[in-house]
Amino acid sequence: MIVVLKAGRGPEKVLARLEEYRLHGSATRLDGRWVVTVEGAEPPELSERLRALSDVAAIHTEEPDYRHVARSERAVRSTVDVEGVIFGGVDIAVVAGPCTVESEAQIFAAAQAVAESGATGLRGGAYKPSTSPYGHQGLGLPALEWLHAAGRRYGLAVVTEVMDPAKVELVCEHADMLQIGARSMQNFDLLKAVGRSPKPILLKRGMSATIAEWLLAAEYIADAGNERIVLCERGIRSFDTSTRNVLDLAAVAAVRELTHLPVVVDPSHGTGRRDLVGPMAKAAIAAGADGLLIEVHPVPDQAVKDGAQSLSTTAFPALMPELARVAEAVGRRLPLRATVGT
Ligand code: PEP
Ligand code: MN
Repeated sequence: MIVVLKAGRGPEKVLARLEEYRLHGSATRLDGRWVVTVEGAEPPELSERLRALSDVAAIHTEEPDYRHVARSERAVRSTVDVEGVIFGGVDIAVVAGPCTVESEAQIFAAAQAVAESGATGLRGGAYKPSTSPYGHQGLGLPALEWLHAAGRRYGLAVVTEVMDPAKVELVCEHADMLQIGARSMQNFDLLKAVGRSPKPILLKRGMSATIAEWLLAAEYIADAGNERIVLCERGIRSFDTSTRNVLDLAAVAAVRELTHLPVVVDPSHGTGRRDLVGPMAKAAIAAGADGLLIEVHPVPDQAVKDGAQSLSTTAFPALMPELARVAEAVGRRLPLRATVGT
């Protein structure tokens, strides 16, 4: 850690604070200002305590403390096995399905279509984060039951969002992977709760979260005991209203440098437009994504939620072979075999 003092201020208070922690600092003058280099193991709160001193202009620290999820923690990238679906291997894992589970017939139709096209995971919300309290909130328990049944029927791993720490156990009974939505990325009690759960986690990036905040959210889950985490880039907020979000594919390449965890991309929420889902799904694979989360609805025009960004059950099967070709071009694989139901 390097502490830069304000012009005209001496290093005494900084050195005294370091003394409180029995740390040594070496003070030097650089371009007319004092600079203190801290030596030894720094306690986590040190930068906060130094920043509080009015003499301090800036503090330069190493990368945040990603002690579980840092790339440097593992010799090889980690893989996450979700009921036989591997995230982070050679194969691109595709999780597809509607935004929200609307009925038994809807989720079964979606599941059949995505399974026959080569998807290996089924998504669908039972508990939906809604900006308005009057918006669709999800159908709850019946939706969980239909989703689970559809996943088992078509041999698909089931991915669904949990919003409430008190419902983690219930959702675990019906899902193979728990999704933490963008709006919950910094719900620290929820992160700790899923960190104690036995199921793998799909951690979406918050719509205004930096990469560091996203990785620290993953760190919360890992630190609570669950290292089976897959990151999901789903677009961040910006000024342009042409797309729902700005899909940050640079972040996919960047996080792969910082963490050993697999990373997938959600081009549906990332763009908000079904015409852009295919191009961005291809770009995501090319950028190094380990998988995709794609909204697919039997009749998108009648979808209760996110119809505008949902692919139909005819558009999705047409896209999959195109994705397979991109995967092959970058040394990955997207097997298109139809999944046989159980
Ligand atoms: C979703 O996957 O349907 C969803 C609500 O996503 P996000 O949390 O990324 O908005
Ligand atoms: Mn959605």
